Amino acid sequence: MFKFLKDKVKGAISKINEKVEDVPDEEIEVVEEIVEKKEEKKEENKEEKKEELETKPVGVEEVEEVKSKGLFGKIKQKIITKNISNEKFDELFEDLEFALLENNVALEVIDKIKNDLKVELVDKPIKRKEIESKILESLKQSINNLFEVDSINIVEEVKKKKDEPYVICFVGVNGSGKTTSISKLANHLKSKGLSVLLVAGDTWRAASIQQLEEHGKNLDIRVIKHNYGSDPAAVAFDGIKAAKSNNVDVVLIDTAGRQHSNKDLMRELEKIIRVSTPDLKLFVGESTTGNDCVLQAQQFGDAVELDGVILTKSDVDEKGGAAISIGYVTGKPILFLGTGQEYEDFEEFNADKFLKFLDL
Ligand code: GDP
Repeated sequence: MFKFLKDKVKGAISKINEKVEDVPDEEIEVVEEIVEKKEEKKEENKEEKKEELETKPVGVEEVEEVKSKGLFGKIKQKIITKNISNEKFDELFEDLEFALLENNVALEVIDKIKNDLKVELVDKPIKRKEIESKILESLKQSINNLFEVDSINIVEEVKKKKDEPYVICFVGVNGSGKTTSISKLANHLKSKGLSVLLVAGDTWRAASIQQLEEHGKNLDIRVIKHNYGSDPAAVAFDGIKAAKSNNVDVVLIDTAGRQHSNKDLMRELEKIIRVSTPDLKLFVGESTTGNDCVLQAQQFGDAVELDGVILTKSDVDEKGGAAISIGYVTGKPILFLGTGQEYEDFEEFNADKFLKFLDL
């Protein structure tokens, strides 16, 4: 998972680190004041401070002198630093930019990362030995900020809505993994003690109703269906009615895959949403499709206001550009990652875990 991205980012950072060597060294002098509380402790503390500086491994190139006058002491250090100019930064960032582009990271996200790193790295003396860790830390912070979109805990939301079933509608293009993700989420909710009902709202694609029924059978969950070609809004309406009369906690509505450019199908989707008034509208996108996935999420978001994203097939995605970009571009959180074909291959999205995958 995301291995190509990890390797490319790592490679780019070590190239940046090599290139930084071209930036001339600068020497800055740091004078540190030490105020002694007790005269008799002075010698001992001075020694401690000196020792501390001598063993300090990072950045401090030289302890020049230790002066001590009465109650006050001064320590002078010479530190070798690099000062990266704006122009040099642009040149250095090219490697990382290329690595991110190769991995389908959206352009606006690359711009954001670039600006974040610029703020941290340009025109600030950085200790020579700390450059790599400074870049890594800034990159980690910048990517982490991309995920700072309020997430939704579905189980808690369902539990909060006591009187009526909690309704979730799934949208996306054909083959993105909607039906599979519905069954995985149904399994997850069931494991949390919630009752679930599925609505076979994809009345368009041959075999989709049977596919959902198969999952229903496997998971022992009721599926509400009509015939192929029937109005999916009517199936959703019946499904919610059945859930209400049986005190079911959650209704998951499958919908036919569609492209935003298909006006008839988009109108049909709007009708399903109008009729079912879902609590959540989730976009299901295929992680491997990178920028296309992000673009589709934007387009679906324009048609029906989305609340969150499920990214499928991340188990076979080596690049991770969609995962990095989609939350920032759409402003909606990734709630789950699909990580395989089994019901259990479904993980709540966790930014820390994602950063660890990238070795950040
Ligand atoms: P739909 O047309 O959007 O309903 O898509 P489906 O749920 O039918 O999924 C299309 C294909 O993707 C099926 O073969 C699924 O088994 C597969 N699939 C869905 N999610 C995942 C996933 O997280 N990982 C992998 N490897 N395959 C998946």
